[in-house]
Amino acid sequence: MEVCQVLHMNGGRGEKSYAQNSLVQRKVISMTKPIAEEAITNLYRNTFPASLAIADLGCSSGPNTLFAVSELVKAVDEVRRKLGHQSPEYQVLLNDLPGNDFNAIFKSIVGFQEDMRKQMGDGFGPCFFAGVPGSFYGRLFQRKSLNFVYSSYSLMWLSQVPEGLEDNKGNIYMAGTSPPSVLKAYYRQFQTDFSLFLKCRSEELVAGGRMVLTILGRKSEDPASKECCYIWELLAVALNEMVLEGIIEEEKFDSFNIPQYTPSPLEVESEVEKEGSFTIDLLDVSQVNWDAYDEEVHQSEAFKDGGYNVAKYMRAVAEPLLVSHFGEAIIDEVFSRYGEIVANRMSEEKTEFVNVTVSMTRKG
Ligand code: SAH
Repeated sequence: MEVCQVLHMNGGRGEKSYAQNSLVQRKVISMTKPIAEEAITNLYRNTFPASLAIADLGCSSGPNTLFAVSELVKAVDEVRRKLGHQSPEYQVLLNDLPGNDFNAIFKSIVGFQEDMRKQMGDGFGPCFFAGVPGSFYGRLFQRKSLNFVYSSYSLMWLSQVPEGLEDNKGNIYMAGTSPPSVLKAYYRQFQTDFSLFLKCRSEELVAGGRMVLTILGRKSEDPASKECCYIWELLAVALNEMVLEGIIEEEKFDSFNIPQYTPSPLEVESEVEKEGSFTIDLLDVSQVNWDAYDEEVHQSEAFKDGGYNVAKYMRAVAEPLLVSHFGEAIIDEVFSRYGEIVANRMSEEKTEFVNVTVSMTRKG
């Protein structure tokens, strides 16, 4: 499977779109906002750039796309007002893979720029937007052209399914029953990809430029730990049921693996140190409930809805991958089963995602 060709969140604005099913990711952007704001306002205070280029890598398409960057721009504008400075000219560069629904983003930009001008009043901007299709595991921008790089919930996606997963039978991701060779293959792919990412960004950022990345990850040093693997393990349960019922071929199931790696803070730190271009200013771990709609309600009905919600947003994320491997026909059935399985688990245990956020500065 060519991940860069296949992977994209469900486009458009419909019921199954990422735009309609990305509340958890939005919550994560909000939770980690103080870290990104601190980094970008520090950058502004230290350098007072006349133009400020901000890139959001893996911006997707939907309400989160412009939410994250607009909060960053607002934070800078507040500081420059307090200091009585003229506004910098902003350039917002929105990156994702070519399959992303860039058209939907472009259509919303003019209205968004108007809203921003109204909100921020005279003296703000201008703020220009551009879409940049391509993989962030390669160069995307000119040398020393960026001041700030932001990315949320994108860097756990690998550039490819790791090689050497033949023995991962019965699983679609790392799991408790995965042999050590599989865990190693996943980790190696993460190391290769993440260090290449760092190298590319180090070339594109100006000296003193900042980067804040939030990655779906884990706290434990065990890569097969439940906190990061369970969400996919439950999808494997649904697929496995369908294999047993003869709806999916066993061979098809065994050859499907998710191109993700959910790193620990230590693994992130160690790659940054090895690559050598950045100093880490802050490394943070946070958690968010699987069901962002309702964290507090503990009744069975809520769990049913919760399971359904989780299945819906996992579908918005994983549908193109599954369709490319298994075909369209089984998809409704897979996610209907998955919803039930997830609801059952959620009624019995606390289910959370772990977010690893790293804030760093390009060395001078
Ligand atoms: N930042 C958004 C979207 C997260 S979804 C939010 O927080 O809601 C993850 C996004 O990363 C997807 O849109 C996916 O297409 C993108 N992505 C994954 N691998 C990528 C790569 N190699 N290069 C660019 N974008 C990538």
